[in-house]
Amino acid sequence: MKPKRILVVAAHPDDEVLGCGATMAKHSINRDEVHVVILAEGITGRDENCSLRKRNDDLRRLKGSSTKANSILGVKSLNFHDLPDNRMDSVDMLMIVKIIEAHLKHIKPDIVYTHHFGDLNIDHRIVNSAVMVACRPQPENHLREILFFEVSSSTGWQAPDLSQAFTPNWFEDVSSTLSIKLNALQSYKSEMRPWPHARSIKAVEHLARWRGAFVGVEAAEAFYLGRKLIGEK
Ligand SMILES: [Zn+2]
Repeated sequence: MKPKRILVVAAHPDDEVLGCGATMAKHSINRDEVHVVILAEGITGRDENCSLRKRNDDLRRLKGSSTKANSILGVKSLNFHDLPDNRMDSVDMLMIVKIIEAHLKHIKPDIVYTHHFGDLNIDHRIVNSAVMVACRPQPENHLREILFFEVSSSTGWQAPDLSQAFTPNWFEDVSSTLSIKLNALQSYKSEMRPWPHARSIKAVEHLARWRGAFVGVEAAEAFYLGRKLIGEK
């Protein structure tokens, strides 16, 4: 089968691994080309004054962690855009869309993975909207599939609302690559938390096992299908 081109669009460094790291590893093993775009810097949202000036070292360290994690997953390219963390609503939507469009034009992906529209985190919701705008169907598009992933410590933390709830209808059997995802997450030491936090290694493994049990396999990553084009193109 012809190798596929994959684009993962994430808000913060670690979302890509939490959301679909084991699926990314599987694509890489299958010789598909995996590209990752991370839009926000993922640091200053935790500060009082949200200034990046004093956090340059932390930013560099986080990018180093991200590079290491993504190389474990066999990612071909990793791009950071350093938009304001947890304040992506302060950036023009059009600018975010244009960043994603530029990557789509360059990478020409067959599959795009991104956030779910119902996440608690505002950047995640904005990234979902921007991806959907950037991926609007055009005759010249190569895109066949858009899948929304879940992020431990965001997707499940939203208050229940049936129209926004993450109700997975697409499961990737990742029994053979879950350990690679967990290994990649070890590189994101500053982002991971101790158990029983939802963003702990143990919780991420439990979620994958539980999603696997949904569909009768050892481990799975769950997605919500945004769009699928089948047949000739
Ligand atoms: Zn995030």
